[in-house]
Formats: sequence, C-alpha cells, structure tokens
Amino acid sequence: MKCRICDSTNLEMAIDLDTQPWCNHFLKKEEIGTEPFYPLHVVYCHNCATAQLDYTVPKEVMFSDHTYLSGVTRSLSDHFLTVAQEMEDRFFHNFSAKSVLDIGSNDGTQLKHFRALGYDVLGVESSKTTARIANEAGIETVNEFFKLDLVRRLGRKFHVINAAGVFFHLEELHSVTDAIREALRDEGVFVVHFLYMKRIVENLAFDQIYHEHLLYYNLQTIEVLLNLHGLAMFDAYLAPIHGGSIIGFVSHASKHAPSARLQALLQAEAEDHSNDFSTYTAFAERIKQMKAETLAYLDIAKRQGKHIFGMGAPVKGNTLLNYFGIGTNYLDCLVEKNELRRGLYSPGMHIPIVMEKELPEPPDIYYVLAWNFKKEILTNNQHLLDRGVEFYFPVDPKDIQK
Ligand SMILES: [Zn+2]
Repeated sequence: MKCRICDSTNLEMAIDLDTQPWCNHFLKKEEIGTEPFYPLHVVYCHNCATAQLDYTVPKEVMFSDHTYLSGVTRSLSDHFLTVAQEMEDRFFHNFSAKSVLDIGSNDGTQLKHFRALGYDVLGVESSKTTARIANEAGIETVNEFFKLDLVRRLGRKFHVINAAGVFFHLEELHSVTDAIREALRDEGVFVVHFLYMKRIVENLAFDQIYHEHLLYYNLQTIEVLLNLHGLAMFDAYLAPIHGGSIIGFVSHASKHAPSARLQALLQAEAEDHSNDFSTYTAFAERIKQMKAETLAYLDIAKRQGKHIFGMGAPVKGNTLLNYFGIGTNYLDCLVEKNELRRGLYSPGMHIPIVMEKELPEPPDIYYVLAWNFKKEILTNNQHLLDRGVEFYFPVDPKDIQK
C-alpha cells in the first residue's frame, strides 16, 4: 500500500483495532450476523507523518444511505451557525452577491445558516435519504459524490466552500482537493472542519477511529495535502465539536500570511511530538489498558446484579463496543433519540436500540457512548443523577465543553 497523501510505501502499523463491521450500518433484525467485517488498522507514513487507515471500505457501502443527521443535535447546529457568522463577518460582509458550496452537506443544516445571511447555497450530499430531506427543506442539494467532474459540470465558482462532513473520508482525495481549488473564487475561503488527531490522542478517544475516517490529520500533515494542490491554510482554531475539531481557513496559495494562532498551534504540535511515530504507538498501548479497565468495571457491576444501558448509539460507539467486546453480555440496550435508528441493532455486537422516550425504567448505570455530549447529558439527566443512576464515561476527556 502507498500513503494516501504522498505515495510513499514507508508505512508502519501504529494502532491495530482488529477487524470491525462498517460502523454506520445499524442492522435490521433480519440482517443480524450477515454484516461483513473489515480490517481497522491505523498506519503511519514515515515520509509525511500522516496517520491513515490501510484498508478502504467501498464508498458505495459507506456513503450511500447513512443515518447520521447533523440537524439532530443542537450543539452541532450552534457550531455551524458560529462558523457561518464568522465567514460573513470576517470575509464577505461587504459583498452584495455571495455564494457557498457545502461538501457533504447532510440535511442542509449548515447551508440554512448561510442562506439566512444572504448567500446563494448549494449542497453536495452522497446519501440519498439526507439529500432528499435537504431538498424538501428547500436547500438545493446535488445527490452525488463531490469530485472534479461535478465541479466542471456545475461551471460555477464560490466565495465559500465548506467541508464539515465526509470530505476527508473520500478515497479520491487528490481529485477532490483539485476540485475545491477549481471551484474556489480568487478571493474565496475554504473552511475545513476535521477531527484533530492531536486531541484524539490526548483524550484517548480511539473510538473516533472508524472506517469512514480514512485519514487522521494534524495541522502539519493536512498542510502537506493542501500545498500539493495549490492551497494553503492561513488560520485555524480548535473547537470543542466532536470532542475536539480544527476549523481551518484555507485560500489559494500565497494569498494570506499564516495567523499567529495557527503558528501557535503548529508550535504546540512540534513541542508535543504530535507527528512522531512513537506518540502513536504509546497511544495504542494506552487503548489496551482502557479495555482492561472498562471490562473490570463492567464485570463488578454485573456481579452486583446491576442493569446497564448504553447511552446513545453514535457511530463511533461501535468501534469501542467491538474492540472492547461489549455486547448484550453487559448492556441490555442502547438508548437513543435519533428516530432513524428505531428498532435497529448495533453492528458487530447486536445490541438493540431503544428510544429514550419509550424507556419504562432507567437502569442502574448508563455506560455513555456519546461522551462528547457529556455536559448536555449530565444537565439533561439531573433527575436521574438525583435518583442515584450512575453515568460511566469510558472515554472521559477533561476539557470537553459540549
Ligand atoms: Zn505520506
């Protein structure tokens, strides 16, 4: 295999999470046991330092009909609003006509915020269901994979290009990045949101590793990709969304000098050795320890006869459940709000999903898979905490705000 960024063959296994089912396909009852398993290995490129998966689940499997809706969570929608407002205030408030393209636009949540600010909006979304939901809500959305050929057919350039969803999961990374450069106006700004690998490592949030996430970027490594395609990041900050994401501002190369806060983030990566192979192998060791700790906790609780439910059925939870080997031997069910997951079962471990509002009785313990909403979960469930229900966070970052 070659590096997905630089074509080097100097790759080495960093994190081995064994084989796992594709984590975004929650199962109908009749599908239980038929789901295929694929390798889930993070390898490290000794040439460009990019961490990446060494196996690609076919994109037709991954992105044709996923059930993740960005409109479902308020904190994510709030985050998108902040980003839209920031683009307007910093770059385009003087423009009378302006446009935005959202790659992986999901149900149109981000574009609704831009439209309210007076932008012409266009979404590109590969999932049929979510593209239909967006179009029905009046957000013009093309139901295709984003690539150069589509940009040429559209024949338009945009002031803002936004990519918060699937952009960095795409296998045709180089074609996609070329397409972004081609669709970006001279004065345009490409806003890229991505999970920050430095933060994933610091938070031990290994459940962010799953087949959709082909690449795990730091600022130093994403710059390698952008520079290969005539683009450059000139500003970035860390946002709490998804447990720690970078919001990066990218332009055509040599348009802007790098901001002080971007330089400070790059400096921190260097000081913390965030792009060293040894950082990843130490992370892999820590994940093994987490497994031992969490199973010890669950074994004691079961011996005491306690009922344990999973809180949330996030996609990332399946990495954790499968790697730890947690099924109905520990968790009676996964409690979820997303109606699209009603009546389904988790891939691999086959835990049934139950709608939160239909739960007859709370458990003794909630094993929280949606840990990135820790604050929201604890606030919303104060009445359960008062009754003595325990909330256990297998991944428990210290600095999560949402
Ligand atoms: Zn490389």
